[in-house]
Amino acid sequence: MLERGEVANSWRRERWDSLRLLTPNWQNRLPGLRYDGPDPDGYMDVREVIDFISRYAGTAAAPVRTQTTVTSVTQHDAGYRVATTQGDFECRSIVLASGACNVPTVPALRAALPASIASITPFEYRGPANLPGGGVLVVGASATGVQLADEIHRSGRRVTLSVGEHVRLPRTYRGRDVLWWMAASGVWNQRYDEVDDLTRARRLPSPQLVGTPQRVTLDLNALGKSGVEIVGRLSAVRDGRALFSGGLRNQFALADLKMNRLLDTFDEWARTHEADADVTAAERFEPTQVPASARLSIDLRSGEIQSVVWATGFRPDYSWLHVPVVDEKGHLRHDGGVVDAPGLYALGLPLLRRRKSSFIYGAEDDARDVIAHLANFLHR
Ligand SMILES: Cc1cc2nc3c(=O)[nH]c(=O)nc-3n(C[C@H](O)[C@H](O)[C@H](O)COP(=O)(O)OP(=O)(O)OC[C@H]3O[C@@H](n4cnc5c(N)ncnc54)[C@H](O)[C@@H]3O)c2cc1C
Repeated sequence: MLERGEVANSWRRERWDSLRLLTPNWQNRLPGLRYDGPDPDGYMDVREVIDFISRYAGTAAAPVRTQTTVTSVTQHDAGYRVATTQGDFECRSIVLASGACNVPTVPALRAALPASIASITPFEYRGPANLPGGGVLVVGASATGVQLADEIHRSGRRVTLSVGEHVRLPRTYRGRDVLWWMAASGVWNQRYDEVDDLTRARRLPSPQLVGTPQRVTLDLNALGKSGVEIVGRLSAVRDGRALFSGGLRNQFALADLKMNRLLDTFDEWARTHEADADVTAAERFEPTQVPASARLSIDLRSGEIQSVVWATGFRPDYSWLHVPVVDEKGHLRHDGGVVDAPGLYALGLPLLRRRKSSFIYGAEDDARDVIAHLANFLHR
């Protein structure tokens, strides 16, 4: 196992200080290792995640070579040549487990921001104190965007949140964590070959969820009520003005509709599995409130906004993979983790084999399937 940094590197280097997992502790398991602390319904902070993964590496006695960056992978004879900062390897098979979130995705319109505005990605963000003073525009309202908007607003800054396509979820539903429902009702286990539009499903934004001791729901209604200004999708920066689309009503209606459909699925599952008695009554949530007059533009030269935080997603980095298996959008061509080149496999990508694939606890089932294929390949 080659690792460019330390075990749990992404959690050590690429997360902001206050981050807690949005998956509850009981759900964060790895093969043979479950959370055994005092708070199964809580949410680990970054330190605890690092400890958990490090403990796993120890108990699994994983042969990790740290501080070893893979700089190039090329096809060679019947296998691959792997160049690293610590020497070269030859192998018949490779599992690409280099992560789905290596690089923050930032739209090209970043280049049009006035030079006076600080432009910050979630990899650079540590907390409100490392932003320049003044107003903050957070672009993107998925898990990262809503969490950062909330934290920055609580620090006393004026925050404007630009909202595009998003996935709304309550933190708890009928008295249980919403991710309990996702697991119990089988949503998390839905297989990649059962999903209608797989390409689209793989690019779905992360749900608007935060892990807090109070188990709060952090949706746009909560943010709006607390004083975060909601504006539409950032569509352009022209002549120093940020321009926002006017489609909030539709975006909100769509996200509410999808959430309610999911809650219907949960209710149906509870009914057919005689679980109604174990949970509280079915509930529905207030529709997302459309601001009375959402601004369609902001003058970025007026001084109102001093920094822009790009919570616009992440992508993998395969710049070192010199095998023709990456499409023009930078996505790996694979069928359930079996990559389009003999002996090449992947793990840890969105909906790799199941809806839960992008979560820590999704790795176990995916790894079992992928490794079965790999073992077969080596045997042949
Ligand atoms: C902001 C954020 C919040 C998240 N919250 C949750 C959550 O609440 N719950 C949850 O279950 N999941 C969460 N996830 C997803 C979680 O990060 C993944 O499930 C998990 O990290 C996947 O592990 P991985 O080992 O596949 O990838 P990573 O954790 O990304 O690990 C990949 C490793 O590969 C190394 N690497 C990359 N390139 C090279 C190279 N060229 N040479 C050598 N080494 C290399 C990296 O240093 C890294 O250590 C979150 C992700 C993000 C970005």
